[in-house]
Amino acid sequence: MSSTYVMHRSLRNTPPVATRGKGVWLYDAGGNAWLDGSGGAAVSCLGHGHPAVIDAMHRQIDQLAYAHTGFFTTEPAETLAQRLVDDAPGDASHAYFVSGGSEAIEAALKMARQYFVEIGQPQRTHIIARRQSYHGNTLGALAVGGNEWRRQQFAPLLIDVAHVSPCYEYRDRHENETAEQYSQRLVRELEDTILKLGADKVIAFCAEPIVGATAGALPPTPGYFKGVREICDKYGILLIADEVMCGMGRTGTLYAVEQEDIVPDLITIAKGLGGGYQPIGAVVVQKRIADAMQKGTGFFQHGHTYIGHATACAAALAVQNVIRDENLLERVRQLSLVLQQELRERFSGHPHVGDIRGRGLFFGLELVKDRATKQVFDPALQLHARVKREAFARGLMVYPMGGTIDGRQGDHILLAPPFIITENEIDMLVQRLAAAIQAAIESLP
Ligand code: PLP
Repeated sequence: MSSTYVMHRSLRNTPPVATRGKGVWLYDAGGNAWLDGSGGAAVSCLGHGHPAVIDAMHRQIDQLAYAHTGFFTTEPAETLAQRLVDDAPGDASHAYFVSGGSEAIEAALKMARQYFVEIGQPQRTHIIARRQSYHGNTLGALAVGGNEWRRQQFAPLLIDVAHVSPCYEYRDRHENETAEQYSQRLVRELEDTILKLGADKVIAFCAEPIVGATAGALPPTPGYFKGVREICDKYGILLIADEVMCGMGRTGTLYAVEQEDIVPDLITIAKGLGGGYQPIGAVVVQKRIADAMQKGTGFFQHGHTYIGHATACAAALAVQNVIRDENLLERVRQLSLVLQQELRERFSGHPHVGDIRGRGLFFGLELVKDRATKQVFDPALQLHARVKREAFARGLMVYPMGGTIDGRQGDHILLAPPFIITENEIDMLVQRLAAAIQAAIESLP
C-alpha cells in the first residue's frame, strides 16, 4: 500500500498493514512476523488474540455494546471498578472510567482542582510535575509533561505548570551522595518549589512512579516517593501517580506504587488496563476525594461520551481476570529476573549501553557515545530511531525515545513485552535487540 487516506504519524511513510496477532507475535498480510517486545507502547500485556478476552467482548457486545452513562451504569463497569478499587492501595473508593491515558490525566487534574473548590480552597491553582515525564498529548496533559520535544511548538497554548527535577539517578546523583541523600535533595527541591508558588496555592504534584516514554523505565531512588508523599501531606497537596504506562502489573505488582509503599490520592491507569483489546483508562480515587465531592456539589464536573463504555469495561475486566487466574503478576516477577539477566549478560559490557534499568517486564536501555563520561550521541543522528528501524527489519518491535531532558538529549530503548512471553522468546528478543543496536551504531556516519 503506497499511500492511504489515514493520516499516519508520518505523513511521508505508510507503515506495513498489520493483519493478525497471536501471543507475542504480530503479522502482516505477507506473513512477516514481528515479536512485540514493547507491547506496542506498553499496552499489550496479554499479547494478541487472547481467547478469554475476545470471548468476554463477544458476550458483552451480544448483550449490550454501549449505554450512555448519563442514563445507565452497566455490570462490567461496576465489577471492574470494584476490582480496581479493592486491589488499590489505601482507602480507594471509586474508579472513573475514560478512554485512554491522556483522558485519565485530564480527569485527574480536574478532579483534583474540583476537590479543593469543594472543600473551600479555590485559591489552589498550581500543578507541579517533573521535567522528565510524559503524561499525554492533550493540551492539559501535555502542559503537565516535561518533554521539551513534545511541548515545544504547542507551548503558547499550554497552562502554566511548574516543573521540578526528575529522579534520574544514572545522570544526576552526585558521586559523594547516597541514593537516599539524592532522594532527599529532590524532595527538598519539591518543597522549595511549593513554597515559592505559595504552600496554599498548589493543587497537586503529578509524577510517573516509573518513568516510561521519556526516559526508558526509570525507577525512583529509595525513599523518593515516601519523601514526596510526606511533603504533599505537609502542605495539603494531592499526589497524582500516573501509572498509565507502568501500572496494571507491568512492574510485577498491579499498581507500581505498591513497591514504594505510599498511597497516592489519585492513580491514573490505561494501556495495560484494556491490554489493547479496547481503548480504556481510569482514575482510581481515594475515598476522601470522592467524599468531598459527594458531600459538596455531588457531581464531578467532567465527562466524555464514551466514559464507562460497556464493551471496553468487559474487555478490561477479562484482562484483569486473566492476570489473576493465570497468576501473571508472579510470572512477571519471575520473567523479570530472566530478562534482567539476559540484558546484563548481553549489554553490561557494551561500549554504548550506559544504563540498564527497570522493574518487572518494563526495562530500558540508555545508549551513550561514551560510557565513562555518559556523553550522549549527537541528537541529529537519531540513534534511537535507527535502533527501532533496525529492530523492525529483524522482526522485533521496541519503543524508542530520544527525550530532551534538562537540555540534554539521550537515546533510550524501552522494552515492555507481554506477560505471557516465554523464556525462549525473551532470548530471541534480546538477541535481535543486540543485532539491531549493533547495526544502528554501524550505520552512524
Ligand atoms: N501517561 C503516561 C505515563 C504515558 O506513558 C502515556 C502514554 O504513553 C500517557 C499518559 C498518555 O496516554 P494515551 O496515549 O493513552 O493518551
